[in-house]
Amino acid sequence: MEHADLIVCREVSLGYEGQSVLNHLNLRVQGGDYLCVVGDNGSGKSTLLRGLLGLLPPLAGSIWRAAELERGAVGYLPQQTRAQRDFPATVEEVVLSGCLSQKGLRFFYSAAQRSRALMNLGKLGVLELRRSSYRDLSGGQQQRVLLARALCAAGRLLILDEPVTGLDPAAAQDLYKTLRYLNKEEGMAVVMVTHDLRPALRDAGTVLHIGHGGTFLGSPAEYLASPYGRRFKEAAE
Ligand code: ADP
Repeated sequence: MEHADLIVCREVSLGYEGQSVLNHLNLRVQGGDYLCVVGDNGSGKSTLLRGLLGLLPPLAGSIWRAAELERGAVGYLPQQTRAQRDFPATVEEVVLSGCLSQKGLRFFYSAAQRSRALMNLGKLGVLELRRSSYRDLSGGQQQRVLLARALCAAGRLLILDEPVTGLDPAAAQDLYKTLRYLNKEEGMAVVMVTHDLRPALRDAGTVLHIGHGGTFLGSPAEYLASPYGRRFKEAAE
């Protein structure tokens, strides 16, 4: 299962209203992978995530997704907006809502879903906050709660869009450490869009750079040696 294909993109173009943003993309995400997507603003990183999530059909090429992903084995942590930071619910309610896709026609969460929500809060070190109001938490605590929420849905794959935006450096490091743990110890595949190259170079198995000048896909070492990554080499040392 570890290296089974989860998503395979072949010669994919993605865009809006017939205008492509990304072209000829070939990409394979397998169980246990850690892929960081980096690149210029507006180059199409979030667009790619929408494609991987099955929310945006390709203009050309094909995106194959494992059947288990259609049944909900993917957790998604979107970019946070200010309105979401003010969300009026308790931490436990926010995390439980991650189980909504599995709730089906029932009105109530099952005991198994509740225990899964609590387990994920514990895993992320925020169990003691479960009765707190989400809007009263710090940015770092809120991201942990949202990650716990995403984990309720994620059986095999976590997709994250700029998860450390707005966090102080210590909270960002904490979040990366948690992702590393989930990936290495629990075999969770991670696909993360980030502006921060440090986790990309330290934790990722593969880096995908999307730029206005072209696309690069390879290991962190290959990325640093490439024309795209060379300018970051000094910063990383
Ligand atoms: P990134 O995440 O790399 O900053 P995006 O994927 O958000 O880039 O955007 C890539 C391009 O697609 C941009 O030019 C943006 O204006 C355009 N775009 C993004 N979302 C939409 C949308 N819903 N409709 C039309 N164009 C969009």
